[in-house]
Amino acid sequence: MVYCFFAFALSRFSGKRFLDTVQNFRVHGRRIRNGMLFTLCLALCACATPQRVGSDWTQWRPSPNYGPRKANYVILHHTSSDTLERALVTLNSSHTKVSSHYLVDRDGRVFQLVDENQRAWHAGESYWGGHSDMNSASIGIELVNNGSEPFAPTQIKALLALLSDIRGRHKIPRANFLGHADVAPGRKTDPSALFPWQQLAMSGFGLWCDPPHEAPPESFDAVLGLAALGYDVRDPFRAISAFKLHFSPNSGRDIDETDRAMLYCLTGKIMTVGRE
Ligand SMILES: [Zn+2]
Repeated sequence: MVYCFFAFALSRFSGKRFLDTVQNFRVHGRRIRNGMLFTLCLALCACATPQRVGSDWTQWRPSPNYGPRKANYVILHHTSSDTLERALVTLNSSHTKVSSHYLVDRDGRVFQLVDENQRAWHAGESYWGGHSDMNSASIGIELVNNGSEPFAPTQIKALLALLSDIRGRHKIPRANFLGHADVAPGRKTDPSALFPWQQLAMSGFGLWCDPPHEAPPESFDAVLGLAALGYDVRDPFRAISAFKLHFSPNSGRDIDETDRAMLYCLTGKIMTVGRE
């Protein structure tokens, strides 16, 4: 408050001579002067007042040892739009309240929309492995795709190059490359069943198990297995649907023995190579 008072007094003193000149030109001097002084006062107050987010009843002893929080997940999406232009309009409009860090077009062009150190609004209500706000922990990548078309090889090649860059900067473990449907089961279905998860896993992004799979023991609980991977299993049917969309999109709705074997293998992989 003292800072504000001082800043306002100072701004009135130093700004007076300049604004007197403006008045000499008879350009609505008084209104302009008051507006400028108010703006200047606000700016000086913002600079002079120490800013922190925390419990205001604690003592502030600032340390110099910190940096921006970094992402530890990558969430992949498809745009559900037919054109790049349509996707850009949606992701760049202040009215939609949605965005992503990157947008990859069918032809392999890659656009960055949000700084990686900032929180883009792409995942919404979401959960994975105990994290209930994936936007705060992830980098979001949108792929231009209408949801019912195959992903173009050129687009996937560009995506792999981008993922490699991101992993180099953030050291994101291979198990933490996920789809929107994985972190929002029952609410989202992107990227679609046509997304090449197996190809990504071969490049080190995401987990996969190639057959033949070892049969799981009788006691293996599939829901606990899904929870071990990271899925939100409060609604087991939604979690199973999301798992099947990612790992077994061409089979029926229910989890079968092949899915159980795949899941059993993945629970082993996440413990052995998931953090690589
Ligand atoms: Zn999405």
